[in-house]
Amino acid sequence: MRTLAVVCLLSLLATIAGAADPSQYVVTMPSPTATSIAVEAQLTLQGDVIAMIVHGSPQLINGQADLVEAITVTGADGRHIEVTDLGMGDWKLADVTAGERVTLCYRVRLAHGDYDWNAGIDEMAYRTDDGLFFTGSSLFIIPGTSNDTAATVVFDLPEDWHASAPWDRSGKLYEIPDLNTLIRNCFFVGTHREETLVLDGFTFTLVLTENLWQKRDLVVATMEPVLPAARRMFGGMPLKNRYLAVISQSDRSDGGAFSDSYSMLIKGEADETSAVVWGHGITHELVHFWNGHSMAPTSQLEEWFKEGFTDYITLLIRSREGLDSRDIIFRKLENSQRRFLLSRMMMGIEENMREAGKNKHRNRMLVYGGGTLVGFALDVTIREATANERGLDEFMAAFFAEHTEGSGSLDVNPYARKAGLRVDTMMDEFYISERADATAAERAIGESILGAPQRR
Ligand SMILES: [Zn+2]
Repeated sequence: MRTLAVVCLLSLLATIAGAADPSQYVVTMPSPTATSIAVEAQLTLQGDVIAMIVHGSPQLINGQADLVEAITVTGADGRHIEVTDLGMGDWKLADVTAGERVTLCYRVRLAHGDYDWNAGIDEMAYRTDDGLFFTGSSLFIIPGTSNDTAATVVFDLPEDWHASAPWDRSGKLYEIPDLNTLIRNCFFVGTHREETLVLDGFTFTLVLTENLWQKRDLVVATMEPVLPAARRMFGGMPLKNRYLAVISQSDRSDGGAFSDSYSMLIKGEADETSAVVWGHGITHELVHFWNGHSMAPTSQLEEWFKEGFTDYITLLIRSREGLDSRDIIFRKLENSQRRFLLSRMMMGIEENMREAGKNKHRNRMLVYGGGTLVGFALDVTIREATANERGLDEFMAAFFAEHTEGSGSLDVNPYARKAGLRVDTMMDEFYISERADATAAERAIGESILGAPQRR
C-alpha cells in the first residue's frame, strides 16, 4: 500500500511539475514574401487533444484552423506521434499521456485576407506592405483547455524585421504569464515603425501601418482625452495600464479589444471628417479596457451591456470632450433608435437583447443599438430619480433587467424629453434636437449627460 501511495504521489508530482513547464513557441518567417509562417512548439500535454481556438468564417468550416498545414508531433523519446484532425481546431494525438512533453511543428498559410470572418479580419490575421498582423488565436496551437500555464515566444524573422507584441520581453524571449494572454492578444511583425507613448498613466506601444504615420498626431489627439475621461467615469484605472495598439488602413472600419492590446482598421482617408467613424472606433476600443476586459462579461448574454454600454459611454465621452459635435452626437443617438427598430421590424429579430448576444455579429444592430438606448434610458432614469445627483457615471455595473430581459419595445422619446431634447420621427427615421421649452432641470440632465451645449 505504502509503495503504491509513493508511486502515485511521485507520478502526481511529475504531472504537476510537467504542467508548470511553459509552452515554448518559436515563430519563423523565412522571408518577407513567404506564403506561410512556421511554428515549432514544445508543449506539455494536458490530455490527448491539442487545440486552436477558432473563429467562424462563412467559407472555412473549421475557421482559421483550415489554414494550418503540415502538423507533425514528436515525443520526447523521438517517436513519431500520429495526429488526427477532429475538426474545429482540435487535433487528437495517438498513444500519449497527460504530462508528456512533445514537439509540435506546423505552418499557418498566410491567406486570412482571402476569406470573410464573422468577427472581422481585425481579430484574425492580415498582411500589409510593412508586415503581418496576428491575433494569438490565429497562430498558436495550445496544449489543452486549461489556459493557466505560462508560455514563451521567440520570433525568428527576416533581416530588418522586428516584432511588436504586448508581452514582457527579456532579450529575444517574450515571457507570457498564461496561455490566455498568449491567444487573446494581437501582435505585429515586419518592417513597421513603433512608438511608445505615455498618456495619463497608460503606456501605449503604437503601431501604425506605413500610410497612417502622417496621421500620427491626429490619432494620438483622438486617444488622449479619452483616457482621463474614462478613468473619471469608472472611478479608477483598468486592470492593465500597458497596451499595444495596432492601427491599419483597410477597406472596412472595425476594431477589437484584447486583454493587453487592441486592433483597429480605418477605412479610407483618416482625417478629422472621417474621425466620426474611426475616432469613435478608437474611443470604443479604449472604453473596452474598463467595460469588457476589467469588467468582463461571464457569458454572451451580457454582450448588450459590453457593446451597447461601451458605445453609449463612447458617445458621452466624445460629446463631453468635444471630439464630436453636438450634431453628430444627436445623429448617433438617432442611429441607435433606428438600429433597434430595424432589427425588430425589418430583420425580424425576435430574441431578447440578452439572447441576441449569442449571435452578436448577426444581431449587431440590436446588441449595439439597443444596448446604447438602454444606456441612455438608464442614465436619464437615474438622473431623474436622484435630482440629477447621479447618473450612469455612478452606476456602471448595474443591471437593467426591465429592458433587457424582455423583448419588448424601447422608445427614445420619453427619455429624450426628460433630458431636454425633442425627437421628430417618421417611420424608421429619428431626429433629435434641443427642445426650446425644456425646463432648467431637464436641460441640466441633458448637460450632465452630454456636457454643456456647443456653439459651433
Ligand atoms: Zn466593442
